[in-house]
Amino acid sequence: MSPSTHDGRFAPSPSGPLHAGNLRTALLAWLFARHAGARFVLRIEDLDRAATRPEHERSQLRDLAAMGVDWDGPVVRQSERVDRYHDVIDELVGRGLTYPCYCTRREVLEAASAPHEHLPEGAYPGTCRRLSSAQRAEREAAGRSPSLRLRAEAARVSFIDRVHGPFEGIVDDFVIRRGDGTPAYNLAVVVDDAEQGIGEVVRGDDLLAGTPRQLHLARLLGLPEPSYAHVPLVLGPDGERLAKRHGAVTLEDLAAAGMTPVTVRSLLAASLGLAEPEEPVTMAELLARFDPSAVPTTAWVFEACQAGDHER
Ligand code: GLU
Repeated sequence: MSPSTHDGRFAPSPSGPLHAGNLRTALLAWLFARHAGARFVLRIEDLDRAATRPEHERSQLRDLAAMGVDWDGPVVRQSERVDRYHDVIDELVGRGLTYPCYCTRREVLEAASAPHEHLPEGAYPGTCRRLSSAQRAEREAAGRSPSLRLRAEAARVSFIDRVHGPFEGIVDDFVIRRGDGTPAYNLAVVVDDAEQGIGEVVRGDDLLAGTPRQLHLARLLGLPEPSYAHVPLVLGPDGERLAKRHGAVTLEDLAAAGMTPVTVRSLLAASLGLAEPEEPVTMAELLARFDPSAVPTTAWVFEACQAGDHER
């Protein structure tokens, strides 16, 4: 299949089993790509070795398959592409576009909470950009291992999101290599989306605010820019982002409560206006009903996770 502007992907971090919110996002990403007759690939974002596990990757792949989400070609793991990310980091260093940052997590939070003229709230104000070489040497001598930040020069980046419409952000100096030497998510995702030929990124709208950083980096690197559809998150009954603490949220928990993957698919499909509640639907039927311009724009509350619901 030749590359298409709708080639899509799902890129989970294997830090735990997928929950209903992740599965709904995966389903939407699949529907966007397949509706356009495009490729759909799976990428495992396992750069953070401390937070990710191969057994979670296995359960994620198994649960996607059980839902009927299929993908093209081999699964790509970021942990196998680390050399490539370091090459890109070296290129940016060589172009003078980076600087080491010695700030601790606490210092970053403190610096980011102070008001700054040109940057949005929460942005890193560039504290370490202005260090003299003596100040750098002092921090090195204290044994601090620096992260590497991109000089973003408060670039203003705008794009049109397929779900949210026009969006603009001012890019702060963000981390492209962590203090432990691991390439950062924002760098890896940009390199991967370009090299995997992704035309449209469909993902949760918790990642919308970070997208200007990724577009800015793609532009600096001369990489093709994907289009974006940030889909609404799934919330628990308390209105917070769905998480394990909400109860039965994974396919395994839901199976124990009497729900098969097909029942879960019906529930997710109904939440997207693609099925009647509890109507069993095939992936082919969902595809036939899907309208990319009619994706709900507000968060959905997942009620099925309330203890006991499906045992009665
Ligand atoms: N790996 C990220 C996550 O699981 C998603 C990254 C992306 O879709 O760009 O939240």
